[in-house]
Amino acid sequence: MSRPGPLGAQPGPEREYLTADLPGAPQRALAELIAGNRRFVTGALRHPHQDAGRRAAVAAEQHPFAVIVGCSDSRLAAEIIFDRGLGDLFVVRTAGHTVGPEVLGSVEYAVAVLRTPLVVVLGHDSCGAVQAARDAVATGTVPPGHLSAVVDAVVPSLRRAQDAGVDELDRIVDIHIAQTVEAMLASSEALAAEVAAGRCAVVGMSYRLAAGEVRAVAAEPAELAGAVAPAA
Ligand SMILES: [Zn+2]
Repeated sequence: MSRPGPLGAQPGPEREYLTADLPGAPQRALAELIAGNRRFVTGALRHPHQDAGRRAAVAAEQHPFAVIVGCSDSRLAAEIIFDRGLGDLFVVRTAGHTVGPEVLGSVEYAVAVLRTPLVVVLGHDSCGAVQAARDAVATGTVPPGHLSAVVDAVVPSLRRAQDAGVDELDRIVDIHIAQTVEAMLASSEALAAEVAAGRCAVVGMSYRLAAGEVRAVAAEPAELAGAVAPAA
């Protein structure tokens, strides 16, 4: 069994690791993430869990409290924008947060084995992967090499945006984030079961590159979206 250890930033009381088996874990994990993003936006950074003590504490085992399925964009570094450190976040990143079997397997490992109570799909404004997919569809060209796999994974979101009459890139990104949340839940029985049992939540967030803040685009269960208010 795991040894109790700190979750929050120092200084503060020692708390147990936040795993899916604790009451209210998804909500608490989301609150931790949002608090960190607010510190990042306002410049009140704590840089928690980035010292040698934490490195030693988590060397033997990990209990990350959130999975981040984010775009690979270099400006979207998860531990920085959520002001977290070692052992806090289980991060999977692909261009345009596109989800294939390896991504789903990684998420299922975190949720089922590590008992991580929150999965965040993290997209952002001006996403180059979404723009590339849009360009490919508009011009009828097939991107070279494996880039076509990224484009193919974004195309269902483009269709959905078109059906909704949405043409602005950042609104298409929001649709793509919501589509990614739905696709993950539809594709992963293990994830869907944890969410249905209330032990895990999946939240889609969009990050603003210039402002540094996240906002909720989609959530399962839906009421969690209200917890992701913009920073003041
Ligand atoms: Zn992107």
